[in-house]
Amino acid sequence: MTPLPLRVATLAGDGIGPEVTHAAVAVLRTVCDRYDVPLELEALPYGATWYLATGEGFPSGEPKRLARSFDAILAGALGDPRVRDHAHVRLIRHALLTELDLYANLRPAEQLLPALSPLARVQAGQARVQLMVISENLEGFHPDRDRRVRVTDDEDAHVTEEWHTPHLVARLLRFAFAWAQSRGRRRVTLVDKTNLVPAHRLWRHAFQTVASDYPDIAHDVRLVDTVAHDLVRAPERLDVLVTTNLFGEILSDLTAGLVGGLGIAPSANLHPGRCSLFEPVHGSAPDLVGTGRANPLAAIRTVSLLLDTCGHREAAAMVDAAVMASLQAHVTTPDLGGRATTGAVTEYVVRHVRTRPLVRDGE
Ligand code: ATP
Repeated sequence: MTPLPLRVATLAGDGIGPEVTHAAVAVLRTVCDRYDVPLELEALPYGATWYLATGEGFPSGEPKRLARSFDAILAGALGDPRVRDHAHVRLIRHALLTELDLYANLRPAEQLLPALSPLARVQAGQARVQLMVISENLEGFHPDRDRRVRVTDDEDAHVTEEWHTPHLVARLLRFAFAWAQSRGRRRVTLVDKTNLVPAHRLWRHAFQTVASDYPDIAHDVRLVDTVAHDLVRAPERLDVLVTTNLFGEILSDLTAGLVGGLGIAPSANLHPGRCSLFEPVHGSAPDLVGTGRANPLAAIRTVSLLLDTCGHREAAAMVDAAVMASLQAHVTTPDLGGRATTGAVTEYVVRHVRTRPLVRDGE
């Protein structure tokens, strides 16, 4: 039986976005070809250049069309020095997250090679890092919830609000426990700052309620500062971290750093059963544009996350194996200590996916 087509819209975006998305699409095409998954691709033109030409993020109605027509959106990066305050990022990325209701942000940090970690304990085999940061994507701190409050005759204070709504918090916590259960993970840790932010008590309350529905999964509650400390001292004691958008952004850069850096860190913005947005954790890295030094592995590993989420686990495993092979062969860009270009790493991964025996579930 021919599998259903996998329908993917690509949003290459700005900076190194087009370069790494080109790499990701090459791998996606190759792996879908090998596993006989019909692939339907459409390249979306949105990004800084589109915004500067039209004054809008995308045409009205576009999120609804994307939700109807695609299983996933594969994004590169958004961010461009020509656009003040990255206004277009809000109009494109934030608007897509909101309109598609992509409430769960997932950032895995898996130790691929011990040598890629800056931690001596990991390199010595005394600690193994396998972390997932799941954060709320639609509320918490958001730049458009910023206002000025007059505090003296000549001074305004800036107030950025943090919002937490009980049913949205509970929805994310349920997602985190269900995800942990489906992946055989052992512990879910709530990361908050209840001692400074009273609104975080709401998270603790909901966490205890949701956790009681998952008696097989250990759970605990930790302050973000102690988690930051322990991620460096004893990362092997942590597993799935669930938290607010701000803490998720900060901690996931730290967890990416623990296993090899932004050059290999993928992410997903999910709403189970709906068209979701997949993107590398890194931004547009203007310093690397056109140099051949952009590491494509974050975008390629994002393809693996997309395939896995869309039910193509064997194809995802094949991409993971190819990434691992490139690391083991030291075919890496300079951020990982290698001398290969973006194109050379991509070619290596594509060749591996094209030529290796097929991985089948259960093998
Ligand atoms: P933006 O404003 O779009 O977030 P940025 O440059 O401030 O862009 P990132 O793109 O996340 O933030 O990158 C920070 C630095 O990390 C970059 O300047 C770059 O040197 C490095 N970096 C990011 N992505 C990669 C990558 N794919 N390969 C190699 N180095 C990277």
